[in-house]
Amino acid sequence: MATIQTAYDQLVTHLKRLDTLGSINGVLGWDEQVNLPPGSADLRAEQAALMAELLHAELSRPEVGDWLDTLQSGAAELSEDQRAVVRDAQRDYLQATRLPKAFVTRKTKAHSAGFHAWVKARQEDDFKSYIPYLETNLAIAREEAALMEAPHAYNYWLDQFDPGLDQATVESLFNPLLEETKTLVAQIEYSGFDISTEALRGFPVAEQADFLNEVVRAFGFDFEHGRIDQSVHPFCGGHPLDVRMTTRFHEDNPLDSLSSVMHESGHAMYEQGLRREHLGTALGSAIGMAVHESQSRMWENQVGRSRAFWRAWEADYRARFATQLANVSSEDFYRMINRVAVTPIRVDADEVTYNLHIMLRFALEKRFFDGSLEVADLPDAWNETSTRVLGYTPKNNREGCLQDVHWSGGAFGYFPSYCVGNLIAAQLWETIHAALPDIEDQIAAKNYAPLLGWLRENVHHRGRRHLTAEFVRVATGRPLSHKPLVAYLKNRYGPLYGLN
Ligand code: ZN
Repeated sequence: MATIQTAYDQLVTHLKRLDTLGSINGVLGWDEQVNLPPGSADLRAEQAALMAELLHAELSRPEVGDWLDTLQSGAAELSEDQRAVVRDAQRDYLQATRLPKAFVTRKTKAHSAGFHAWVKARQEDDFKSYIPYLETNLAIAREEAALMEAPHAYNYWLDQFDPGLDQATVESLFNPLLEETKTLVAQIEYSGFDISTEALRGFPVAEQADFLNEVVRAFGFDFEHGRIDQSVHPFCGGHPLDVRMTTRFHEDNPLDSLSSVMHESGHAMYEQGLRREHLGTALGSAIGMAVHESQSRMWENQVGRSRAFWRAWEADYRARFATQLANVSSEDFYRMINRVAVTPIRVDADEVTYNLHIMLRFALEKRFFDGSLEVADLPDAWNETSTRVLGYTPKNNREGCLQDVHWSGGAFGYFPSYCVGNLIAAQLWETIHAALPDIEDQIAAKNYAPLLGWLRENVHHRGRRHLTAEFVRVATGRPLSHKPLVAYLKNRYGPLYGLN
């Protein structure tokens, strides 16, 4: 008994040390994107490489293997929570020790080279020059799955981002969602209700930032343990006790920063809601990308694009931007915020068509891994699939297969998380409405405490006790399904576009 408990305590101390090391990396990564002078990039690369080496050495310390062996053989003496901590630590330890150092170095270099090749290829719309890099990344992804003795390479990668998620589950969710979404988009296009956002021009950045700070503070973001800065690509990083989120501002596109800040604050509040006493262990960790994305999407979409939200904030917004909005009616402004229109670029997509972009990428990733798609044939396959799924044929590879950074850095299996996150957000939202029947009134009164309180208790505080799909069943009482998202989208966009 004593040995088991000692081994467990040693493991937790080790995990907390790793968490602190990781938090140093978090600040360095944030600083690189927000503050770093261009001439200091080489030094930062050296620092990052050394940090990675230190982290890997700490992660793969041989004693950790001994503790894990002891804990696994004595698992019966552990509580359910403790077993979850051990299981999670085991997973990371295997990852750190099974992959040879030479392989990890080769992989890191390939991803870095792939990224630079992608930047250039996209700039020049030159897919050919990118082919060997993408081929290398794919080969390395397959090799890693083999080294990890994973029976199915694509499942291995899906599981990396969302524990327990596999191709068959994603297919069973995406297939019906695809049909329902295509129908809805066709109806919306046919309705002729499209409203351009062209009228939104000249919104001073300082005023935008001020408004958003007020909103995010009202949501419940803790500025004592986090901050918002600016970067080219918005992100949320740092550590739960020191969250660093960023946004970007355009005077002529105020809706972009609105949605991006609400989105990142959803990520941020998930991190801030993890149990402090458990940080570093599975009990104080986020589950995976899809659940993370469910939090960001919920604040951005279910809350931030709702009538209730704008009933509360429109007057404040108009007070700041009276001239810019003088000729925009309330209803038109709401329609602009909820505009649905097919765009070739994923990151510009609205919440209805966005999922189609993900299904397009999922269809191609599957084929990369089952061997039915060669990298050289990607542009044609992309364009065909885009025509079928999105109803749009890209005019060039910049608005087709060269638009996303993910594959250039070896992130295969990541895209589905975005759409699964939307599914989870909608299913949680249904559950929240049942649990808090006056939630819309609370949102309309700028009172977000009931919502955040529910999320804290039912999502954030759970940590990583469950795999992704199991978490959804526990939190909502039902298996993950496409239906809540379809119902939510019809509910919001049906009336707006005069459908039904
Ligand atoms: Zn996100």
